[in-house]
Amino acid sequence: MGGTFDPIHYGHLVTAEGARYEYDLEKVIFIPAGQPPHKPNFKRTQAWRRYEMTRLAVATNPFFEESPIEIERPGPTYTIDTVQEISRLYPGAQIFFITGADAVAEILNWKKVERLLSICRFIAATRPGYKQGEIWKKIGALPQGLKNNIFYMEVPALAISSTDIRQRVRKGKPIKYLLPEPVETYITSNNIYLD
Ligand code: ATP
Ligand code: MG
Repeated sequence: MGGTFDPIHYGHLVTAEGARYEYDLEKVIFIPAGQPPHKPNFKRTQAWRRYEMTRLAVATNPFFEESPIEIERPGPTYTIDTVQEISRLYPGAQIFFITGADAVAEILNWKKVERLLSICRFIAATRPGYKQGEIWKKIGALPQGLKNNIFYMEVPALAISSTDIRQRVRKGKPIKYLLPEPVETYITSNNIYLD
């Protein structure tokens, strides 16, 4: 499961658990992005902090783990490099990349998209307000064989986003019950998202 995870929240966790169950996945590895090429101007929290929050969030699920492979790789983060690295680490494994439908709709802009879709399947989770038709329209140009490797998964309508959580912290509004308690405590004790 890939994302910026700035911070990780229950939307991400519910999605990952849903995908694990639906696709009978052996485990879900949460991989915080290093430098997302599509968010160049976005002021991100330091990678090691996003990684630490991810680690805290996944600790209580025996099927979940975190990996620093994207934050340790220099330069912009491309999913193709990550998936290739994962297939080297788990030879013979069937790999699914779990992310939001909004991200998958932009997949034509991704590096080596055809190669990517030929070595891994995608699970595109809906987030509230997202229509399934949008995604198919946007990726229309892809060969059907590759499109068949994209699976669409509905998750309970969780209108939670990292953007909203960051704004809440800045405004002094509560973030409790939007993300796991250890992550909330980490944000508060380290004064993250205040500026
Ligand atoms: P930001 O608001 O900073 O963009 P985000 O909440 O979208 O953050 P990301 O780290 O960008 O979080 O999310 C990674 C992936 O998880 C994205 O593809 C996103 O669509 C998906 N996702 C995020 N929140 C939810 C949610 N509440 N329900 C389903 N999918 C979600
Ligand atoms: Mg996002």
